[in-house]
Amino acid sequence: MAGVDLHLHSAASDGDCAPEDLARAARAAGLDLIALTDHDTVSGVPAARRAGEPWPVSIIAGCEFSVAADWGEMHLLAYYLPVADAELEAFLGSQRARRASRGQEIVRRLQGHGLEISDQDVRRAAGSGAVGRPHVAKALVERRLVRDIQEAFDRWLASGRPAYVPKELPALDEVVALVRAAGGVSSAAHLGERAQPDVLDRLKRSGVDAVEVVHPTHDLGLQRRIAERARRVGLLLSGGSDWHGDRRADEKRGALGSLVVPREWVEELHALHLARAAGREAAS
Ligand code: AMP
Ligand code: FE
Ligand code: FE
Ligand code: ZN
Repeated sequence: MAGVDLHLHSAASDGDCAPEDLARAARAAGLDLIALTDHDTVSGVPAARRAGEPWPVSIIAGCEFSVAADWGEMHLLAYYLPVADAELEAFLGSQRARRASRGQEIVRRLQGHGLEISDQDVRRAAGSGAVGRPHVAKALVERRLVRDIQEAFDRWLASGRPAYVPKELPALDEVVALVRAAGGVSSAAHLGERAQPDVLDRLKRSGVDAVEVVHPTHDLGLQRRIAERARRVGLLLSGGSDWHGDRRADEKRGALGSLVVPREWVEELHALHLARAAGREAAS
């Protein structure tokens, strides 16, 4: 039986794979149900779905939001989003505009350190995708200013390095409300050791629906502990490879097909989405 992966990126954000090539790659990796969860966009979903039909691979419309947390930045995955919702698009559009200007600020800092790199280099690396640090890293590699993506982060782009620019982050409550109003369900991504009972309890009370259990940064013991804690506070479970392209698979981002989750987890997320969507129908 084919597998389920609920955390994948495409070139609509900082992944390597064009959305239209995703389904074939997923099928070849033994997957038949995937969620496309690009950073701050659902724009890859229609093309991925169209191309997915013949394989067949079902594609859940998802997105990975960045939100403010006590400790800095938290990633919130959302599933079963509408792909043409005016309110959601307005929000995501503003997040992507912030990403673009942050990219320019990073470039200015790099230039300030004498590196010959331009906004245009980064725009070219990003293509039509939501701009992220991996695109700046790619531009630095192409300009031969660093050897590889990892060196770009280690020397310049990672938190605490000279060209690090933090994101301006929306509040968790704002994003949770947006996702719910759109009929979607949310899951707190790759919390690692931060997934302590008190944190999960607070997330649940903020209206978050699930927590990511399976992730390349979570070993099996941690996965088991997070799953137990989540069930205790009434959070559903999600997980996936956080694939950004097989060439970039490492200890933080898995290879395609390397991490799958039980089908029951998706069924519960889907049931919640259906209940929420039915509630919206009834209210409108
Ligand atoms: P951004 O959303 O622009 O802050 O970029 C975050 C993305 O950069 C993550 O989703 C990863 O794909 C990548 N990333 C973050 N930190 C590192 C790192 N230390 N080394 C390599 N890639 C990283
Ligand atoms: Fe990423
Ligand atoms: Fe993330
Ligand atoms: Zn991700």
